[in-house]
Amino acid sequence: MKIGNLNGRAVVAVADGVLDINTASRGRLPTVLNDLFEKFDELRALVETHDPEHVVRIDVQQLGAASPGPRQVFGIGLNYRDHAVEAGFAIPEEPTVFTKYVSSFTGANEIIRLPSNNVDWEIEVVAVIGRTAQRVSEDAGWDYVAGLSVGQDLSERIVQMGGPAPQFGLGKSFEGFSPVGPWLVTTDELATPDDLELGCSINGVEVQKGRTRDMVFPIPELVSRLSHIVTLYPGDVIFTGTPAGIGNAREPKWFLKHDDVLTSYVSGVGEMRHVLKARELAGVQS
Ligand code: ZN
Repeated sequence: MKIGNLNGRAVVAVADGVLDINTASRGRLPTVLNDLFEKFDELRALVETHDPEHVVRIDVQQLGAASPGPRQVFGIGLNYRDHAVEAGFAIPEEPTVFTKYVSSFTGANEIIRLPSNNVDWEIEVVAVIGRTAQRVSEDAGWDYVAGLSVGQDLSERIVQMGGPAPQFGLGKSFEGFSPVGPWLVTTDELATPDDLELGCSINGVEVQKGRTRDMVFPIPELVSRLSHIVTLYPGDVIFTGTPAGIGNAREPKWFLKHDDVLTSYVSGVGEMRHVLKARELAGVQS
C-alpha cells in the first residue's frame, strides 16, 4: 500500500486515485495517519473492497510529511561505509544516533528556506515504525516497520559541527530541514526492501547515488538495537543514514544555494522535489 497525508487526513492510493480513509471506511478507520498504524489489516481490506465512488484524484505534490507527528525521530550517522570514509571516520561498531526535531518536518514538494550558505544535502531512506517495539530481535525488525519513505536530512554544517561538542539535533532541525514523503510505502510493495537504490540531484546534476544493501546497520538491525535502549512507538521515524556524495566532503565544499532544485528518490518508494530559497528572499517566487 501507498499511504499519504493530505492536509492532515490519511489517504491511501488505489488504481485511479486515492481514498480518504476515514470517509471511504464510513468512519470506521481514523482520520489521521498517526492513529492508523495498527489498523493496516483493516486498511488492506478497505483497499480491496472500496466503493469506486469514494476514489478522488489528487495532486501528489500536495502530500505532506509521510508520518506527520512522530513521538520520536532518530537520525543515524555514518551508516554507509563510503560516507564514513568521505567524512573521515572509521566504520562505526555501534549506530551513531541523533535526533531531528519534529518542527523541522515538511512535505515532499515544498520551498525550503536556507538560513545560511552552509546547508548540505543527505538523501536517506526513512523507516516509519508500525507498532510498539521493545527489545525486539534483528530477525523480527521488519515486522515493526510500517513502511518506508524518502527523506532528506538537511544539515547546516556550521551549527552542526560548531562548539565544544557537535550540535547534530539543532544543525539538522532548521525549519523545513526534514522533508519526508510523498508516500509511506509498505514493504510488501518492494521486491527487495533490503536493497533499494537511493540518490539525489541538484539542478539535474547527480550528487549522491547508493544502495541500501551497503548500510553498516541495515534497517532491521537498527530497529532491534534502538529498541533495546528506548521503546519505539507507532509513527516514530528513523532517518537511516546517507551514502557518499555530501557537499561538505567535497573539495571545494559545495552547499545549497538560492533557487537550487533538489530532487531526491528511493527506487520503488518515491521522489521528492524541493526548491531552496535564501531566507531573506524566501517570499520571492521564480
Ligand atoms: Zn543523515
